[in-house]
Amino acid sequence: MQEKDCIFCKIIKGEIPSKKVYEDDKVYAFHDINPVAPFHILIIPKKHIVGIQTLEAEDECLVGHMFYVARKIAQDLGIAPDENLNKGYRLVFNVGKDAGQSVFHLHLHLIGGRKMEWPPG
Ligand code: 5GP
Ligand code: ZN
Repeated sequence: MQEKDCIFCKIIKGEIPSKKVYEDDKVYAFHDINPVAPFHILIIPKKHIVGIQTLEAEDECLVGHMFYVARKIAQDLGIAPDENLNKGYRLVFNVGKDAGQSVFHLHLHLIGGRKMEWPPG
């Protein structure tokens, strides 16, 4: 299930240190080493999946769980939209090199704590 040379598999196993924010039997979440905003969390499955580009039908629920965990973390961090839909955060999958994917273990970026621009670069 886990890949020998994958840095995120090594983070899950504790072989590379990380600042954990959440863990359960399916996912692990930790602070990005090079944050692009005041809050930048990565949510990754414990199962090694290269990215959305290789997602299998059996992993559909796992991706839904990643989004649900992102929602909970954003609420805990105090960056979730309020009743007037103010504040907010961004959830991003970079899929492939042209999209900016540099680590080939599926990860959901949770980015917040500042106002975002659109369209992204
Ligand atoms: P990608 O560019 O593939 O969408 O995102 C990979 C992310 O992983 C980048 O934001 C990068 O800063 C982060 N990253 C790469 N290596 C490490 C690491 O060893 N530890 C942590 N915490 N983040 C990492
Ligand atoms: Zn991996």
